This record gives sequence, C-alpha cells and structure tokens, in this order.
Amino acid sequence: MSGEKYAVTVRSSFSAAHRLLEYPGNCEKLHGHNWQVEITVESGSLDSRGMALDFREMKTALGEILARMDHKYLNEVPPFDGLNPSSENIARHIFDRMEGKIPSPARLSRVAVWESEDAWAEYSRPGR
Ligand SMILES: [Zn+2]
Repeated sequence: MSGEKYAVTVRSSFSAAHRLLEYPGNCEKLHGHNWQVEITVESGSLDSRGMALDFREMKTALGEILARMDHKYLNEVPPFDGLNPSSENIARHIFDRMEGKIPSPARLSRVAVWESEDAWAEYSRPGR
C-alpha cells in the first residue's frame, strides 16, 4: 500500500442569521454572517478520468446541504433548534450530512466554516 494521498477541496458560501445562546456578548444578539464553507475530500487513488472526486459532484452535494440554511434564521432550522449554531457545530453538521454522499474510496476529511474573513472553525474525525 502506498502512502499516496490526493486532497481536493471546494468552497461555497451561504448567508444566514443566528444568535449564540449563553454567550455573553454581541453574538448573543440576532445578527447575520456570510459564511464561507470548505470541504476537503481525500483519496489514495484516482479514477479512470484522473480524478479523486469530481469537483462538480462535490459542489452539488454541498449546495444541497447549504440550501437548507441559506437565508434562514439558523436557530429555527434543525438541528440548531436544539443545538447552538456556532461555527464549530455548523461544521460538524455539514460533515455529518456530507459524509454519506462521498463515494468510496474517497472520504471526507475536513469541513471548515468561516464566520468572517479572519475567524473560522474546522471539524474532522478519523475515517471508518
Ligand atoms: Zn455570529
């Protein structure tokens, strides 16, 4: 087995409002962000087209997930009606929904969520 690894990343964005519960500060008040989202997929091999995973497929799958949150008040959208809509929780939620959409042998390795240009959260976990 070679240690080769390819990583492919796509970026997309969505706009939404949220408020952070139990947070002493401005983020407890209703406000909005233009979140940037990056997903990275890794694979040890390429398909017959020379791709780890088609960027277009990744963008389509990510777009479906983000559409549920775009222009919404996140605190009312499951699972954030019972889970604080922090960038960390948003990243994990996107990871959970995205993981099953990635065909083997590729695997989702990372989701990063930018709340602003200079502040972001990342989520990853070991593959199954
Ligand atoms: Zn915020």
